[in-house]
Formats: sequence, C-alpha cells, structure tokens
Amino acid sequence: MKQTTQFDAIVIGSGITGGWAAKELTEKGLKVLILERGKPLEHQTGYTHEFTPPWQAPNQGLPERELYAREYPVQSKIERGAFSWANRQYWINDRQNPYQEAKPFRWHRTDVLGGRSLTWGRQSYRWGDDDFKANARDGHGNDWPIRYADLAPWYTHVEKFIGVSGQPEGLESFPDGHYLPPMEMTAVERALKQRIEAKWQDRRVTIGRVANLTVPHEGRGPCQNRNICNRGCSFGAYFSSLSSTLPAAQKTGRLTIRTNSVVEAIDVDPRTKRATGVRVIDAQSGARTTFKAKVIFLCASTYGSVQVLLQSRSAAHPNGIGNHSDVLGRYLVDHHGVAAFGEIPGFEDRNYKGRRATGILIPRFRNLGGQDADADFTRGYGFQGGAMRDDWTNTAALTDDFGAGMKHNIARPGKWVAFLGAFGEQLPQAHNRVTLDENNKGGFGLPQLRFDVAYGENEKRMALDAGKQAEAMLKAAGAARVQLAPVRTLPGTSIHEMGGARMGHDPASSVLNARNQVHGVRNLFVTDGSAMASSGTVNPSLTYMALTVRAVDFAVAELKAGRL
Ligand SMILES: Cc1cc2nc3c(=O)[nH]c(=O)nc-3n(C[C@H](O)[C@H](O)[C@H](O)COP(=O)(O)OP(=O)(O)OC[C@H]3O[C@@H](n4cnc5c(N)ncnc54)[C@H](O)[C@@H]3O)c2cc1C
Ligand code: SF4
Repeated sequence: MKQTTQFDAIVIGSGITGGWAAKELTEKGLKVLILERGKPLEHQTGYTHEFTPPWQAPNQGLPERELYAREYPVQSKIERGAFSWANRQYWINDRQNPYQEAKPFRWHRTDVLGGRSLTWGRQSYRWGDDDFKANARDGHGNDWPIRYADLAPWYTHVEKFIGVSGQPEGLESFPDGHYLPPMEMTAVERALKQRIEAKWQDRRVTIGRVANLTVPHEGRGPCQNRNICNRGCSFGAYFSSLSSTLPAAQKTGRLTIRTNSVVEAIDVDPRTKRATGVRVIDAQSGARTTFKAKVIFLCASTYGSVQVLLQSRSAAHPNGIGNHSDVLGRYLVDHHGVAAFGEIPGFEDRNYKGRRATGILIPRFRNLGGQDADADFTRGYGFQGGAMRDDWTNTAALTDDFGAGMKHNIARPGKWVAFLGAFGEQLPQAHNRVTLDENNKGGFGLPQLRFDVAYGENEKRMALDAGKQAEAMLKAAGAARVQLAPVRTLPGTSIHEMGGARMGHDPASSVLNARNQVHGVRNLFVTDGSAMASSGTVNPSLTYMALTVRAVDFAVAELKAGRL
C-alpha cells in the first residue's frame, strides 16, 4: 500500500509538547502526522509492569547492575528513582545512542511514543513576570519577547485540560492557575508551613501543584496515591500524551502517528524560504522517506530539536536552520541545586495514608523585586521538598535485631524526615552549548551531539546561599541533625534542560520570534524547551505547553489567512 506523504501539518516528537501540538492542530481541522523516533506504546495495555507488586519484581527489584552498566550507563543514574526495572523499556539505550561530553554531562531521554510525558514528575507551575523580565533587568541573556500576560490565557487553557491539583496562594511572583482540589500536606509539612511562615513573612510553603487528578476529570479517573506513575497509569490519573493529548487528537480522525521514525532534517525551499518537508529514517529498516506539509512543529525536546535544526543544512542555511548568527545550540540553561535533610521529633503519633504523588514547594523569595542586600549572587531559587516517615525498608535494613524484635521494628513507621531541595536559576551564557560532532557518528550515521556545559561562579554562590537558607528553615521548623547534600551539581541531572534555540526580538541574537516561529522560515515552529531564553526557578513543562498551544493558535490563523 502506498503511504501518504502529504499532510497539512507535521509534528516532530510525541512527548509533552508534540502531544499538545497534535491535539490543537487536529482539533482546528488540520490533517496531522506525528513523527516519533521511539517505539510504539499503547495506553493501558502497554504498561506491562503497572500492577506488578514489589515481591514479583525480577531480581527482587534490585538494579540489574551488569545490564545497566552495559546498556543504560546514563539513564540508570537518573535521580528520584525514575529509572527502574518497571520502566526501563521506556528509556533510550545509551550504548546504541552515544553522545560526546566536552565536560561531564547527563542526557536523560526516553525512546517511546509519549516521550518523557510518561516519566516526568508532573510538577506544573506558571512562570511569573519576574521570570520573563529577568534577562532584561540584569542583562544576562537576551530579553524575552513575551511577558506573563501573553501566556496567562494559554496556561489556563492547558491547566483546564490536563488537570492540575494545587492551592492558589495569591502571590504576584508565583501566579495562581486553574486548580483541582489540592493534595493534603502531612502533619509535619503543616507544622513546617506554620513555623517557616511565622518566622519569614516573605516565604510561603504550599503543596506541590501536580498534574495528578484528585477528582475525576476529562473522562480520566482520580489518582490512587500509589506514586508509581512513571510506569504509566491505566486510570489516566496523571497527564501524559498517551492518556490525554494523543487520544484527543485521535478522536478527530485527522491524526496519523508514525513511530520508529527518526527525523534527520527539515528541508527549506531557498526560493520561498518555507519549510517544505521532513526527512525521516525508519529506525527498523533504515529506509529514508520525505514527508511534506504546509506547517511544521518541531517538538523533539530541547536537545532533540536543536539537533534536527543543526542537521538541517542547505545552501540557504549552511550552519543549520536559524543559525545565521551562531546562536543555535548556545545559551543552554537548567536548574542547579543543593538539598537539606533533618529529623523532626514530636510527631510520633501522626501518620498519613497512601503515597502522595507530590511534595511541598517554597516559591522563590531571594532577590525578588531587586537585589537583596545580603545576596552575593544574581537571581534566585525555589525549594521543593516534603516531610514523611522514613520508610520501613530502611528500618528493616538498619535494624540489628532478629526474630520477634525485628518483626516489631519493621512493623513501626520510621522517624519523620523533612527535606528541602533547591531549584536554582542558571544564568544564560553563550559558552554553554551543544554542537554536532562530525567525527563521531551515532545511530543511523547521524553526527553525535557534543555537550560543553558547566555551572559557573554565580550558580556556586547561589547554591551556598540556598544551603544556608534550607538549613535555617529546617532548624526553625524544629529539625534535628540537619545535613546538607549537593544535588544536581552535574549539568543534565535536573532534566529541566532549556535554551539552544531561544526566543528573542532580534533575529541577529535569537532563533525564534515571539510566536516560536523560526526567524526567516515562517511555517516552522519550535515550541519545546529549546525556545526558552532563561530557566526561572520552577519546573518548565507547563510553560512549554502554554507556548505550544499559543503558537498553534497563531499558526493556524496565519495558515488560514494565507500568510504561512
Ligand atoms: C524523571 C523526570 C522528572 C521530570 N519532572 C518534571 C516535572 O515535575 N515538571 C516539569 O515541568 N518537568 C519535568 N520533567 C521534564 C519534562 O519531562 C520535560 O520538560 C518534557 O517532557 C519536555 O517535553 P518535550 O515535548 O520537549 O520533550 P519529550 O517529552 O522528551 O518528548 C520529545 C519526543 O521527541 C522525540 N524525538 C527526539 N528526537 C527526535 C527525532 N530526531 N525524530 C523524531 N522524534 C524525536 C523523542 O523520542 C520524544 O518522544 C521531568 C523529566 C524527567 C525525565
Ligand atoms: S499514583 Fe495516581 S497517577 Fe500515579 S500511577 Fe497511581 S493512580 Fe496513576
């Protein structure tokens, strides 16, 4: 059967942003093709280990060390237990997909339909005006071409569909959204909140805003508080492309999904200056095909999209699309951090039910509305954390008792432990960049990406300050034995990568305009994290989603007006 190669729109990538682009484009009447390099995966039937209990886990759930070292040396080091025996099939095989490190770097990525929407932590926060104005105020990075007001209605549009549980707080620098009922704080978190807010009036402790449903929503079931979401969830109780955006797009009858389709490059007609098609390598057969469309949305994740743009070289774009000024691949930013832990005595009679799939958050309070007199760094950080009883597996491992004594020990809940982990803003710097390494070819004969990224002096000073503040807050909340731990000190480990194809007013210093449209190629839009001109202090994916739906709305209007 002859395959169709002509569509109204092509979306590259099926993760968080690609899913949204497909939903909005199909719902606005366009015939859409999604090209996804990863394997196919069916919502519900595909989550093979979703209900596997721990006692049936292979190797008793312990890491398969030889396999991990050989096939997943990078992915298996991902923080917060996001890589495990239960979901390793979602992650990319590092041996088959190598990359180069001018400086040590972790590139965490999936290789499956749905991308990292399956494995993300679902923390969903709006960025405020402080975040969008930061570059203009202190001159690091270029001015964002948009402000909070440009995104506010699109944040609402996204939140209403994905379902975010959370608590409005009425803070200008930390905008509220459209929320389902919040998850409950534990008794110690409530005490933490009361004690920290009493001591520091500029600090707010709130429950994490998370794209897990606390009530039925949009035909999806509520969360069962198991916190094993990154295996996939048949209830659709957390937002992923597979549970939410792709089914909505499929419902229109206008979506075609092509998995195992590695996008090599985008073709641009030098005469019309428009993107004409997308060149694809079939991951299984190696066959090459070109698909054509009137409009293209590049949503292959921050580094994936930069890679495709760099690979798209032609006479008109000799250094890759949008790279006339050598900005493409530069100004990479992420979140860096430090964490503090402490034991909280006095709540031994209190407990909680279930495994809540979120934590608590303290929005940025440093250098807001001007430089704090005692701060020797630029910009700020927020904290995410929580307080819970140490889990019984630790108790079991640490108990030196036998028989009845051991049984008694492991039947009791552990100590209350509270922790605060900083998410610090990294300054945009031109030297933090990713390039194509022509001397080292990877899968499909494509050049590997070469990462040259390091945290600088400002990040180090900010992390020192964050550590001191976390320690002070835990102590004020009554914590004993407070300890600091360096976290997210290696670029890549935060998995909040941003930049590389930043938005801006001026084509000479940015890749995209205020509508995520590539300067000079008006039917090509890039709406994932590569578009970001700075990193803010809260998780970024909700902002990528808002940017995507806003860009689709603009693109379809332009298409209908004959301007694309
Ligand atoms: C463990 C973990 C926890 C996280 N927690 C949070 C959180 O709490 N909150 C938050 O905001 N963010 C979080 N993130 C980050 C979040 O997952 C990403 O920001 C988000 O998924 C980015 O969306 P995306 O569409 O740009 O990329 P992805 O979701 O990664 O999707 C990109 C897709 O493009 C495909 N692709 C790449 N290259 C090509 C190519 N050449 N051809 C075809 N297809 C291609 C990939 O296979 C992938 O499916 C977390 C990430 C991880 C891994
Ligand atoms: S904790 Fe909730 S969202 Fe996560 S897998 Fe269980 S039911 Fe689904």
